[in-house]
Amino acid sequence: MNIYALIILTTLLLDILLNITADLLNLKNLKTTLPKEFKGIYDPEAYRKSQEYTRTNTYFGFITSSFSLTLTLIFWFSGGFNYLDQIIRGFDLHPIWSGLIYIGTLMFLKAILSLPFEIYSTFVIEERFGFNKTTPLTFILDQVKMLALSLVIGGPLLAGVLAFFQYTGTLAWLYCWIVFVLFTLFIQFIAPTWIMPLFNKFSPLEDGELKEQILDYARDVKYSLSGVFIMDGSKRSAKSNAFFTGFGKNKRIALFDTLMEKHPIPEIVAILAHEIGHYKKKHIIKGMVISILHTGIVFYLLSIFLSNKGLFQAFYMEHISIYAGLLFFGMLYSPVELILSIFMNIFSRKNEYEADQFVKDTTGKSEDMIHALKILSVHNLSNLTPHPFYVFLNYSHPPVLQRIRKIRDADNNV
Ligand SMILES: [Zn+2]
Repeated sequence: MNIYALIILTTLLLDILLNITADLLNLKNLKTTLPKEFKGIYDPEAYRKSQEYTRTNTYFGFITSSFSLTLTLIFWFSGGFNYLDQIIRGFDLHPIWSGLIYIGTLMFLKAILSLPFEIYSTFVIEERFGFNKTTPLTFILDQVKMLALSLVIGGPLLAGVLAFFQYTGTLAWLYCWIVFVLFTLFIQFIAPTWIMPLFNKFSPLEDGELKEQILDYARDVKYSLSGVFIMDGSKRSAKSNAFFTGFGKNKRIALFDTLMEKHPIPEIVAILAHEIGHYKKKHIIKGMVISILHTGIVFYLLSIFLSNKGLFQAFYMEHISIYAGLLFFGMLYSPVELILSIFMNIFSRKNEYEADQFVKDTTGKSEDMIHALKILSVHNLSNLTPHPFYVFLNYSHPPVLQRIRKIRDADNNV
C-alpha cells in the first residue's frame, strides 16, 4: 500500500471514528431532566419523544455510514475503479465522453445505493415522528428532477473542467476556477427564480397584519421587501424553517408556511429579522468569498496531483486519465475538507449569534426571538442537550440553549 492509499484509508477510518465517538457522546448527553428554559413549553411526553428522535436518527446514521464505508472499501480494494475504466475504454470514445460516463456512472450507483436509506428515513422514521408529509409521487418526482438537474448543470460543468485540463496546459486550473466561479454565481443568481420553484411554490406575502408589520420593519432597516416569500414547506415535512437565498436583485428570504401556523406575528418578524441580519452583517458575501477562494485552491492542488502515478497505483489503475484523477484527488483532499468543514461550522455558528444580536438591536424585543427559537426547537424535536464535541464537529447553528443564553446575557449587559 503506497502513501496515497494510506492517507485516504486513514482519513476514511478517522472520519467514521470521529463521528461515532461524537454520536456516542451525544447519546450519553441526552438528559432526562427538562432544561429550565423549556419548562411550560415542552410537556414531558414530547420531550421524551424528542430524545427518542435523536436516538433513532443516530442509530440509523451508524447503519448508513458503515454501509457506505464498507461498500467504498470493497469497491476500491477489489479494483472496481479500474474495472469500470476498462469497460468504458472498450467503447473507444473521446476522453471527455469517457470521463462523463465514468464519473456519471459512479455518481448514479452511489445515488441508487443510498435511495433505500432515503426512503426509510422519509417514510419510516420521519413518518413515525409525525414529520413526513411527502407523498410517494412527490418523492419520485424529486428524484427525477434532481437527476435531470445534475445532468443539465453538472454535466456541462464537468465536461468543461475535463476539457480545460485536457487542452490548456499549466494554466488549466486558473481557467477552471474562473469558469467555475462565474458558473456557480450564475446558478446561485437564478436559483431562487428558476431552480427552487421546480421543487416548491413561493408566494408573495398576502396583505394583512403580518405584511404591514414586516413592511414597517423592513423600512426601518432599509431592506427591500420584494424578496420575502412564503414557501410551501408543508409539501414535504411538518418541520419549519426560514432561509436566505440568491443575491443582488434576485435575493430572497423564504419563510416556510409551517412557520406561519405556529408562530404569532411578532415572532415571525423576529425570524425574518434574523435572516435579514445574515444579509446586513454580510454573512452571505463572506461565505461566497470564502467558497470562491477555496475553489481556487482546490483547482490549483488538483492540477498538481492530477496525473500523479502513485495516486493511480493506490486505486489499482492501469491507465492514467484526467477524469479518474479528478475523482482520486477528491478522496486525497478529504482530510483537508474535514478540517475545513469544522472551521466553516465555527464561522457559521458565530454568524448565527451575530444575526440574533441583529434582531435584538433592530427590534429591541429579544423575548420574541427567544420564544420563536423555543417553539422552533419543540416543533422540530431538536436535541436540547447536544454534546459539545458533537456540536464542534457537526453543528452549523449553536445549540438553542446557548443561543437563548447569549441573547439574555446581552440583555443583562445593557
Ligand atoms: Zn441563521
